[in-house]
Amino acid sequence: MADQYTFTDPTARYADIDTKPVSQDGPGLDSGMRDRADLGEESYRGTGRLEGRKALITGGDSGIGAATAIAFAREGADVAISYLPEEESDAQRIVALIEEAGRTAVAIPGDLTDRAYCAQLVQTTVERLGGLDILVSNGGKQQYVDRLEDLTDEAFDETFKTNVYAFFWLAKDAVPHMPPGSTIIATSSIQAYQPSENLVDYATTKAAMNTMSKALSQQLAPRGIRVNVVAPGPVWTPLQTAGGQPTDVLPEFGQQTPLGRAGQPAELAPAFVFLASGESSYVVGETLHVNGGMPTP
Ligand code: NAD
Ligand code: MG
Repeated sequence: MADQYTFTDPTARYADIDTKPVSQDGPGLDSGMRDRADLGEESYRGTGRLEGRKALITGGDSGIGAATAIAFAREGADVAISYLPEEESDAQRIVALIEEAGRTAVAIPGDLTDRAYCAQLVQTTVERLGGLDILVSNGGKQQYVDRLEDLTDEAFDETFKTNVYAFFWLAKDAVPHMPPGSTIIATSSIQAYQPSENLVDYATTKAAMNTMSKALSQQLAPRGIRVNVVAPGPVWTPLQTAGGQPTDVLPEFGQQTPLGRAGQPAELAPAFVFLASGESSYVVGETLHVNGGMPTP
């Protein structure tokens, strides 16, 4: 069986996955995608890189967060996942995969824009996993709006609450529980560097997350907690089919990259594993780009 170590041509990988015009309501479901996203279910091979670690991953029900949850479990970590209540079916599939890897899975549904939920999320994780030493702030909101006049104050606020405030709240609440050696990873985006004209609010939140990570990394490094960022390019996930992009552009999604295709969540997970594990012990305040080759500053 091919795994993430198999020698392959990156331009030809996933030639069988053809992104299709799909339109979903709400946050969108992995199970609602007409062509599947690869979360590494059949391919990710763990080698004990996160043995005994305790992780909280927001947006762990689908897409990049779910692929990361599967990888973390196969690397030996117990994993708590956060997601919206309407994503319960996706979440339960990931819980089963974490448990199949022989690890503890904790499912904690709720809304990241709610301060009280973020506090409870950290508390429940610490109680159920017996601690916390990896925080992945990955849950995110992306809704395209073509005209500035149509970007409502409420939508702007919700994008900031979901992407920026939740990261701040979770990091703030997690740090007191985190022993030296712990790691915090935020999911930013190529949008922080190459903003699209219809993602004004979203792109701005991703730049804010980058800068917040760099500032936090300076503050927390002396305490032995490393903060880093993964910045994905175009990745085939439910978010893109649920208003993240206009539906009609999805068939071309990712084709502008030098690799000529969209990335798959399974291709992001190893970046999170690297930044979570001790093998990145001297990597602090870094942004690891996984974007098919789009140049970044
Ligand atoms: P996804 O839809 O699979 O994951 C996003 C998750 O965010 C959802 O599953 C949902 O559980 C969670 N979420 C959204 N709003 C929430 C709320 N109010 N409360 C609780 N949870 C909420 O899509 P994905 O693409 O895997 O997204 C993961 C991260 O990757 C996001 O931060 C996104 O901005 C980022 N990203 C994605 C791409 C891409 O092309 N897919 C590119 C760059 C960055
Ligand atoms: Mg989801």
